[in-house]
Amino acid sequence: MSEVFTGSFTQQEPIPESGIEAAIAVMRHGRLHRYNTAPGETAEAALLEQEFATLVGAKYCLAVASGGYALATALRAVGVKPDQPVLSNAFTLAPVPGAIAAVGAVPVFVEVTESLTIDLDDLAAKADKARVLLLSHMRGHICDMDRLMSICDAAGITVIEDCAHTMGAAWNGTPSGRHGTVGCYSCQTYKHVNSGEGGFLVTDDEAVAARAIMLSGSYMLYGRHAAGPPPEAYESIRYETPNISGRMDNLRAAILRPQLADLPAQCTRWNARYRRLEKGLSGTPGLTIVDRPAAESIVGSSFQFLLLDWAAEAVREVVSRCAARGVELKWFGAAEPVAFTSRYDSWRYVESDAMPATDRVLAGLLDMRVPLTFSLEDCALIARIIRAEVGAVFQAQSSPGV
Ligand SMILES: *Cc1c(COP(=O)(O)O)cnc(C)c1O
Repeated sequence: MSEVFTGSFTQQEPIPESGIEAAIAVMRHGRLHRYNTAPGETAEAALLEQEFATLVGAKYCLAVASGGYALATALRAVGVKPDQPVLSNAFTLAPVPGAIAAVGAVPVFVEVTESLTIDLDDLAAKADKARVLLLSHMRGHICDMDRLMSICDAAGITVIEDCAHTMGAAWNGTPSGRHGTVGCYSCQTYKHVNSGEGGFLVTDDEAVAARAIMLSGSYMLYGRHAAGPPPEAYESIRYETPNISGRMDNLRAAILRPQLADLPAQCTRWNARYRRLEKGLSGTPGLTIVDRPAAESIVGSSFQFLLLDWAAEAVREVVSRCAARGVELKWFGAAEPVAFTSRYDSWRYVESDAMPATDRVLAGLLDMRVPLTFSLEDCALIARIIRAEVGAVFQAQSSPGV
């Protein structure tokens, strides 16, 4: 009898009781809008921003309606204008090129390596093509940020980091999102904290912070941003910065605050699950484990592996055999985008050059979520199932006459 996994890859943990209590308190008093405060009161949204700024060591923080909104706001706040090129990873998810398109700018894709990070040689070769890089730490894989920043600094490129998958992670001790000019995060249900929808933008740049706050829809109430710059910062920009509403509200902020406090402990739990999967799969013939450098502090909320240079038919066979045993793998090599998974050539509003290195990696890339509702034993079981099915298909592939 072969083992079957019966858990759900999309089931997150419940909201902590303290977050539920805080949310109920906000509903009881009714002041859900972030600028609707009683005398002397600091809104939940403003407190959340202060706490997130402290967590990542940023001067300024703005909480917004979604991670995608944070990305587009960051692009506007650093001055990206319609028709300008913006460099970005070819391997990312749809909200990233979508944010570039939202400001009327034009994505220019950079190749990905077998480590699933942006190809820094390709970035260096394309450094004269744009003034801004929207860098996606896709699936939590962080490139050599020291080298990336030296390439971008030398070329005068402003870096915006998409940290949708790296909230709580770090490179060489510096929190993800704190290498570039702006860091953007998501609080959507499938990320590291869960308010259904939501996002953060952090920066040390006073002018960028002031513009982002005005853009998010602060009207002339920007003084209520406890994690924003002083009032003088708005003087020169408050008449010329459009209001493109995308605020965080107090209800979601109340749900998020206790989750931020728990984040370090949650990251440790994710990593224990990640390492269990990694251990269970290492040494599987035909399967490449993704390298995690020592400088990278990971948050293992998802797991990827490669079946490099396998025939598409064989990869499809692995996916369907694992699915039959309850293990849901997402394949980035599929011709058609499925659910949340799509790739650069599915975004047909972008004219992209051929990306042969990315095509090769995505053709062999399998991905799964690792929600904290999985136990360590669940992860060991999932690894046994994948190992067995990859092994069976690999063997059939390499035996002559089969
Ligand atoms: C989820 C996600 C985003 C956007 O976040 P939303 O809050 O869903 O708008 C951006 N980039 C990546 C890589 C994501 O996975």
